[in-house]
Amino acid sequence: MIDRERLIQTAAGFGVALSAQQAALLDRYAELLCEKNKVMNLTAITDPDGVEVKHLLDSLLCAAQPEIAGRVADVGTGAGFPGAVIRVLKPDVALTFIDATAKKLGFIEESCAALGLQAETVHGRAEELAHKTEFREQFDCVTARAVANLPAVCEYCLPLVKVGGWFVAMKGPEAPAELDQAKAALRALGGEAKELRRFGLPDGSERVLVVIKKISQTSTKYPRSGKNITKKPII
Ligand code: SAH
Repeated sequence: MIDRERLIQTAAGFGVALSAQQAALLDRYAELLCEKNKVMNLTAITDPDGVEVKHLLDSLLCAAQPEIAGRVADVGTGAGFPGAVIRVLKPDVALTFIDATAKKLGFIEESCAALGLQAETVHGRAEELAHKTEFREQFDCVTARAVANLPAVCEYCLPLVKVGGWFVAMKGPEAPAELDQAKAALRALGGEAKELRRFGLPDGSERVLVVIKKISQTSTKYPRSGKNITKKPII
């Protein structure tokens, strides 16, 4: 459904090497997404150009970052963004798709199986999973797109990251302002913002990757309950 050759060329323009086979897998994944979207609400973006840029290219820019390596979790993955694209671009990554909505994980499992891709899914809220020893500080890297504002998403994600690992938050032009609001949360959670990486997508939108390093262990008092995370930001 997408223009595979154009996606390969655009990705190359950002320094991301995508093979014809990988482009075909992403195209097929996009088709399955739009097909399933007719019976289940998975995405508001279904036009081919929108899917190519806003889902696939945007996720590729995240997936290609050097921090995305080792054991990686995509928190609030929804229909698999950026997770499914990480799965395709970096087959060596041990990827866990996490979401609070089971039916979305069902779509990811079905689609990955159809494409011959391996997918480990975990159903649950990140702030609850982060208190279980099998997930707490177990990931080399965690990603999240469109899950919550930065202070909240840091509290969901940083407790899952190993000391020395990374949290890469996919944001838009609001990133610097959100980072300002997240300063106290980062300090409390053991994170340090290292870099903002900016990209202009072909549709004119600005994307910013907030690259956060986990520099010290997170106190077991975090993450708090979901309600406190959204209602009482760490200040
Ligand atoms: N990352 C995807 C989906 C964004 S929608 C994309 O960018 O297209 C947000 C998703 O995050 C939803 O699927 C919702 O179920 C999930 N979510 C929100 N809060 C969560 C939490 N605390 N733990 C796990 N999943 C969460």
